[in-house]
Amino acid sequence: AAMRHLPYFCRGEVVKGFGRGSKELGIPTANFSEQVVESFPSDISTGIYYGWACVGNGDVHKMVLSIGWNPFYKNFKKSVETHIIHTFKEDFYGEILSIVIIGYIRPEKNFDSLEALISAIQEDIEEAKRQLDLPEHLKLKEDNFFHLPEGKILNNH
Ligand code: ADP
Ligand code: MG
Repeated sequence: AAMRHLPYFCRGEVVKGFGRGSKELGIPTANFSEQVVESFPSDISTGIYYGWACVGNGDVHKMVLSIGWNPFYKNFKKSVETHIIHTFKEDFYGEILSIVIIGYIRPEKNFDSLEALISAIQEDIEEAKRQLDLPEHLKLKEDNFFHLPEGKILNNH
């Protein structure tokens, strides 16, 4: 069921999250607006996914993505958060993030400790890196979706 909607292409503005402190953990997650999240298939599984991501018309990088229940809305609404596997010089709130979600890694889990959470995410990142090096996944990195003229990116979020 998780795979039915994949690959899933999506573009939208990066908004302020709800301060889970992802950046403090060394794993910042770029959050999509509620409007973009609402446009997702309503039956898409929560959990951790991998794929490709690009900020503005920058380079395309590997990413891990979480689709989860948004505590800000008492878990009635989903949140979609992308951790791009790249070190950026600056934050990019307000910029357009383009992603293609390719594969599912695992369902959401609760962890006993912060250490356990962080090490699970590190494993997710390693799994994403391995998967995305496969030829069938590498080819989506070159997809035209990531190479639109600038005006189109802005109008087509
Ligand atoms: P918030 O709760 O506002 O989402 P986070 O701690 O999750 O805060 O940090 C997310 C922000 O960090 C992103 O919106 C983006 O501007 C910035 N950022 C910097 N590097 C990355 C990265 N590699 N992946 C995702 N976001 C990043
Ligand atoms: Mg975040």
